[in-house]
Amino acid sequence: MPYVKRIDHVAIVVEDIETALGFWRDALGLEVTLIEDVPDMHSKVAFLETGYSEIELVRPTDKESGIYRYLKEHGPSMHHICLEVNNIRAFIQRLVGQGVRMINTEPVVGTGGRLIAFIHPKSAQGVLVELYELTGQELEMRPSRSRSLLIRFLSRLKTQISNSLRSRRSNDQR
Ligand code: ZN
Repeated sequence: MPYVKRIDHVAIVVEDIETALGFWRDALGLEVTLIEDVPDMHSKVAFLETGYSEIELVRPTDKESGIYRYLKEHGPSMHHICLEVNNIRAFIQRLVGQGVRMINTEPVVGTGGRLIAFIHPKSAQGVLVELYELTGQELEMRPSRSRSLLIRFLSRLKTQISNSLRSRRSNDQR
């Protein structure tokens, strides 16, 4: 089984969540699935759904956060991409074995027991990459998000299957 499942989210650092929603929610028409304060990360975040992935808007809530320093240095901009993975601990070991520089060699336990580890941008063409393993606890905390991602996934699967059946049938007719 491959370790990487899909892009979970792309995170954008913003100065103000409401202002940013003016574009991401109102102009683009994306649906907000969650807005929450994350005191651990000294930030407030908003998630907007884009199919099987999300856009995460992150605003620093105090000067303690790395996000705050990033915002000061780079201004509002893309901050990281997050890959959902299977078996995060084994994956980290494999990456370390391949000489990949990890910011976290042990996953950090976040809200709802979610497991997170960052790969250093030096090893990823300048992109900060977050690895994330979904846990059962988190599924319970965010049922609507999990449900809608699952429904979208299943409906895509159905389309793919019926498309491939259709193309097989038309090949047979030739
Ligand atoms: Zn993230």
